[in-house]
Amino acid sequence: MPMNADPLAALVGQEHAVKRLNAIAQAPPQSIVIEGGDADNRVALALYWAMRLNCVSGSIPCGQCPACKQISDFAFNDVLFFDGREGLIKVDPIREQRGTWGQPPNGDGYRVTIFAEAQMFMTEAANALLKTLEEPRPGNVFVLAAPQRERLLETLVSRSWVITLAWPDVRQNEPSITEWTSALVHFWASERGWFGRTAAKGAVDKHLALQVVLGIQRELREAMSGRCATPVSRALAQQHDIRSLRRIGLILDQAQDALNTQVPVNPAMVLDWVATRMF
Ligand SMILES: [Zn+2]
Repeated sequence: MPMNADPLAALVGQEHAVKRLNAIAQAPPQSIVIEGGDADNRVALALYWAMRLNCVSGSIPCGQCPACKQISDFAFNDVLFFDGREGLIKVDPIREQRGTWGQPPNGDGYRVTIFAEAQMFMTEAANALLKTLEEPRPGNVFVLAAPQRERLLETLVSRSWVITLAWPDVRQNEPSITEWTSALVHFWASERGWFGRTAAKGAVDKHLALQVVLGIQRELREAMSGRCATPVSRALAQQHDIRSLRRIGLILDQAQDALNTQVPVNPAMVLDWVATRMF
């Protein structure tokens, strides 16, 4: 279990999402999806939701009552926490909880089951959860946190109320990375000027490929936020509608996963895959 002095600290700048949750707290939907932001932001918002539904004050979490304190310490008996940051979420632990979800919570609030990085669901586990959600579960609510809703089983998302966190601020890319990201955005617009880069012998190692993927993710967030403070993000926003930007995000997530696995991959091929996947 992750430990953090103040798990809600990551909500600074996310007031809009917090407000939206407060607005639905009187009649909480059975399942919500939290997307956007970074992993810490998403876990913080999920914990906030658990506090909001269990705080003795009955409204904005006080941070002082036993429920609030135990939730911050991951020690509250009406919060179940599945952590996809620690590896795949498998089916057995999901099946084991089905009896629990059939029961009302121990306390006066709600039992909140949180799946952090829910894109780490194995298919069987996701289907087991789907079955659970298909039945009424009085007093139980579920949170699926993931970088993007498209990374979750569509049938899970369609049953959920989706909340999108603000994308993190862009940090300027190094000029050497900007060369790559602008070449990629240019290639998406013109279908030219890409393969010469990745084909050059020894040009792309795993570290560089990851830097380029993270760099374009950064530009993408900037484009999606509408701020467009960099030339590359401006070009992205001009050339793509929001649907297409979201698709780029999905492709980049997959590329990042591929580069982060222990299985050997050819980093130049991953970048070529990112480049051509848009067509
Ligand atoms: Zn409280």
